[in-house]
Amino acid sequence: MPQVLVLGSGGALPSAKRDNTYLAVRGEHSTLLIDCAGSPIQRLRQMGVDPTSLRALIVTHHHPDHIYGVPILILGMWLLGRQEDLEIYGPLKAVASVASLLEVLDASDWPALFGNVFHAIPLIEHTLVLETGDFRVYSSPVAHMVACVALRIEHKASGAVMVYSSDTEPCESLVRLGAGADLLLHEATGNFQGHSSPRQAGEMAQAMGAKRLVLVHLSGNGDEEEWEREAREAFAGPVFVAHDLECFEF
Ligand SMILES: [Zn+2]
Repeated sequence: MPQVLVLGSGGALPSAKRDNTYLAVRGEHSTLLIDCAGSPIQRLRQMGVDPTSLRALIVTHHHPDHIYGVPILILGMWLLGRQEDLEIYGPLKAVASVASLLEVLDASDWPALFGNVFHAIPLIEHTLVLETGDFRVYSSPVAHMVACVALRIEHKASGAVMVYSSDTEPCESLVRLGAGADLLLHEATGNFQGHSSPRQAGEMAQAMGAKRLVLVHLSGNGDEEEWEREAREAFAGPVFVAHDLECFEF
C-alpha cells in the first residue's frame, strides 16, 4: 500500500515540534520526495526509508522553506555513493533556484557527483509531471504569491490517489486536480493571501470529494483541536492534523 510520510508539518516558521512541511511518497519500488526542507537524509532514515531509493524530487515553488534542504540532500546522497542521476522537477523559477543554490556551493566540483537533471513543469492544469513504476504524478498551478503547483499522485497498481495542495489559497484549479482524492494533504497556515485556513482546507476537501483530509503547513502556536474542529465544520469526512514523522496510507 502506498504511503505518504510527513517529514515536516510546519509552516514557513518552524516550531520546536514541527519542521517546515515536506513529504516523501513511498511505493513498492521507489520513493518520491516532495519539497525539501531541514535534514532530509535524517528524516528519511527516521522513517525507515533508504535515502538511496529516492527516484525523484519535486519542488512545488521556490520559497525557501520548500527548497533550502536540497543541497544537503544532494551532499548526503553523494556521500552514500549514489551514482544514478537525480531527476528534479518544479516550476521554472523553482528548479532555477535549486540550480543556483547548488552553483553557489560549487557542487559541480564535488568529484564524481551524480547528475542533477532539471525539468521545468509548465504552469498548465493537469500536466503529467512524471511516471514511475509505482506512480503517475500530475500538477496544476495554484494560487500562491509565486508560481506554485499542487500535485496529484496516482498509485498505478491500486488506482489510489493522494493530492498535496502545496501553498495556496482556495482555487478552482486545485478542486479540479484533486477530484475524488482518497487522501488530501492541504495546507492550513491561515486565512491570508496565498494561504488557507483549516476551514478553507475543509471546504476544498468537500468541494473535490476527497475521502480524508490531513492538515499540514501549520503554525507552531495554534490549537490542534480548534484546527480540526474548524475543518470538520466544512468537511464531512475524517480530518487529521499532521505531525512530523507521521505516515498516512492511501
Ligand atoms: Zn510558499
